[in-house]
Amino acid sequence: MVGRFAPSPSGRMHLGNVCSAMLAWLSAKARGGEILLRIEDLDPARSRREYAETMMEDFRWLGLVWDRRVPDQSSRSGVYEAALERLREKGLLYPCYCTRDQLHAASAPHASDGRVIYGGTCRNLTAEQRAGMTKVPCLRVKVPERVISFTDGLQGPYAMDLSREWGDFILRRADGVAAYQLAVVVDDGTEDVTEVVRGRDLLSSTPAQLWLYELLELKPPEFRHVPMLLAPDGRRLSKRDRDLDLGELRKDHSPEDLIGLLGYLCGLTDRREAVSARELAAEFSWDKVRREDIILDPAIL
Ligand code: GLU
Repeated sequence: MVGRFAPSPSGRMHLGNVCSAMLAWLSAKARGGEILLRIEDLDPARSRREYAETMMEDFRWLGLVWDRRVPDQSSRSGVYEAALERLREKGLLYPCYCTRDQLHAASAPHASDGRVIYGGTCRNLTAEQRAGMTKVPCLRVKVPERVISFTDGLQGPYAMDLSREWGDFILRRADGVAAYQLAVVVDDGTEDVTEVVRGRDLLSSTPAQLWLYELLELKPPEFRHVPMLLAPDGRRLSKRDRDLDLGELRKDHSPEDLIGLLGYLCGLTDRREAVSARELAAEFSWDKVRREDIILDPAIL
């Protein structure tokens, strides 16, 4: 059993990030498995080395220690290019020249969550049309016209027809950087990760990722999408919510206090009391973990 931490070093971790990482760690440790650490620093504009260093220090402080660090995503562009090449050979990749404005035009189809569905404008351009374009394109992968379904280990059955609800999606951005969807599949697939535990916000990306697993002939892991922590107004915590980030929380709380709080909020314990990650692992079971998002009233801190 191999799980992973896959943080994006774009800011200090907040309690929601810690909650997902804690559940990934507990799930692995409760079954004698291994946890990998992979820094997801694909986006050069948002990623900073200092944030990665601080995240590692925060994980250690919390007692969520990883067993093995695998290469940072920023060092793996050659591996992602090789994967793109395989998809190109299958005729499933094409350049897209659409501008932001074109993509977000009022007439563009939208998914139920408000996301724009790519309508396939550049899917069937001729070689001459492509040669006439001046914009640097991104690369998209064609999606199939069928439902992709899987059973999430926490949320249950989930299905999506990518052609209707997602559209052909980007695998390499116009600036040459591999897209998250590609990198995460290539990495989890080649690093032999067997269980992915992450926030519920990524549940809807999973069918797209399963499509890539299929195309790249990689074995998909099991997925467990865990509750998000929400602010009292229903907003998701973000790395910008400085008041719930570890820099602030570490001033007034011990690691056991925060792990105990998260364990209680997730349903692992009946009472809020200080506990170490190791102690919590001894009684961990996915049956206890709640599925629904958690409203975090700052007063509880
Ligand atoms: N790097 C992503 C994040 O920090 C996690 C992606 C994943 O777990 O698949 O939100």
